[in-house]
Amino acid sequence: MPTFPIYLDNNATTRTDPRVVDAMLPYFSEIYGNAASQSHSFGWAAAEAVSTARTQVAALIGADPREIVWTSGATESNNLAIKGVLDAFPSAESHFITAVTEHQAVLDSARHLERSGRCVTYLGVDTNGQISLSDLVAAFKPETVLVSLMMGNNEIGTLQPVAEIGALCRERGVLFHSDATQCIGKMPVSLETLPIDLMSLTAHKMHGPKGVGALYVRRRAPRVRLSAQMDGGGHERGMRSGTLNVSGIVGFGKAAQISQEELVEEQAKLIFLRDRLINGLLGSVEGTRLNGHPTERLPNNANIAFEGLEADALIASLPEVALSTGSACSSEAIGPSHVLSAIGLGKLANSSVRFGVSRYTTEEEVDWVVGKVGEIVSRLRRLK
Ligand SMILES: *Cc1c(COP(=O)(O)O)cnc(C)c1O
Repeated sequence: MPTFPIYLDNNATTRTDPRVVDAMLPYFSEIYGNAASQSHSFGWAAAEAVSTARTQVAALIGADPREIVWTSGATESNNLAIKGVLDAFPSAESHFITAVTEHQAVLDSARHLERSGRCVTYLGVDTNGQISLSDLVAAFKPETVLVSLMMGNNEIGTLQPVAEIGALCRERGVLFHSDATQCIGKMPVSLETLPIDLMSLTAHKMHGPKGVGALYVRRRAPRVRLSAQMDGGGHERGMRSGTLNVSGIVGFGKAAQISQEELVEEQAKLIFLRDRLINGLLGSVEGTRLNGHPTERLPNNANIAFEGLEADALIASLPEVALSTGSACSSEAIGPSHVLSAIGLGKLANSSVRFGVSRYTTEEEVDWVVGKVGEIVSRLRRLK
């Protein structure tokens, strides 16, 4: 028997790797200086640790350390990228393109732009959750300055064709931002080859601590200009003021280093467990289907619809397993998720459960969950 409870909500957050915690601890108790203090050894040691972490995070994504801006997480990174770029193009006509299935932090930033009179286009998606490149081409205007499309969707796992999207943006001199939060640490992402100009990531989705993230800002070809959203001491090359979260940044760096070293095996393991879960559920439980793209999907995500069942009832009947119906990111929201609605699920949106495996998930856990879900689904359907 596996140990309970089983955690399968890894698209919401992940366990902090104990190796990451160990790396962080001295930065609370001994090396507690402010990384901006340049007059004593406490500050120098903190600054050096931040510099090491910057190199580690940059290395994971094929970037230059100077292209990393520390933030409080991907929510802030998305805000900074979108509002920061549009603020740097003050013309009222400046146009922004995104998609209806983006994370709330992108959609709410887009609404913010609209309220301040900017023009925004929201691309729709197909039933797999992908945008169409011809829709994107049709949406470009001479005034388009930024496109923001996520790399991997946090609810249904669908990957967008970011290389093609980036190429279309490049041809037109339009900047491309991608929220890659769900992909980093689970699959190779290299900005040496990908035509992405700004990219959001966060530590807690890759076994790092909560409350620390980064925005990648390309420095050459093109050099991205960004207007700071936080006024203050001008930290992070003036792009994000505020005393750095040194211990968190150290943890993020360590998480990135581990991910880089273990990426090949980790990706293979995640895909193996994900596919075992998908094939197990679709093969043994009637009236199930996989939401999102069948192949172009996050290594660790399976979003499954159970016909004729309320997802909330299924989750409530399975207290041994940490699961969710979708995003934890719009915590106050009620009603079906905007992503499941956008792929046209209709009533099935309320019957869909998100499963997310991780570095710590075992085959035994997956097999137990598949068996148990089958039992519960039959019982709930009999009761109806
Ligand atoms: C979790 C998540 C975020 C938000 O990240 P925080 O660090 O929690 O602010 C943004 N985008 C995506 C795709 C996510 O999965």
